[in-house]
Amino acid sequence: MTYFPDGMIPPPVSLDTAPFWDAAKEHRLVLQRCSTCERFQHPPGPVCHRCRGSNLAWRDVEGRGTVYTYTWVHKAFVPALQKQLPYAVAVIELPGAEKTRFVSNVVEVTPDTLTVGLPVELVWDDYAELSVPRFKPV
Ligand SMILES: [Zn+2]
Repeated sequence: MTYFPDGMIPPPVSLDTAPFWDAAKEHRLVLQRCSTCERFQHPPGPVCHRCRGSNLAWRDVEGRGTVYTYTWVHKAFVPALQKQLPYAVAVIELPGAEKTRFVSNVVEVTPDTLTVGLPVELVWDDYAELSVPRFKPV
């Protein structure tokens, strides 16, 4: 399913983020996890955000969480999004990944239905070259 219009600027892919986007194409949500201090982290990086170790692995995580916080975007900084306004950008807390927080969009909500603590689940926003994880109410 596509929630956002074609013409979006694709997210940049780097050596650190390529495994995330490769898994997303298979509709798998993966996060980096440090094998030294055993903590998840997101966004990914070359070293652990906590212990600075480089022993990082990718783990599949459950795509269910809750809205930690959110905002509504009312100005289209990318012209392709003009018809989507307003849209919600949220921080999703993932209890299955030690409450790691993940920035995404919440779709299928209105200003009246989107609240802090709202249970949400992963949905995939599929484009020709990539799939983008977004969330919708459970
Ligand atoms: Zn670590």
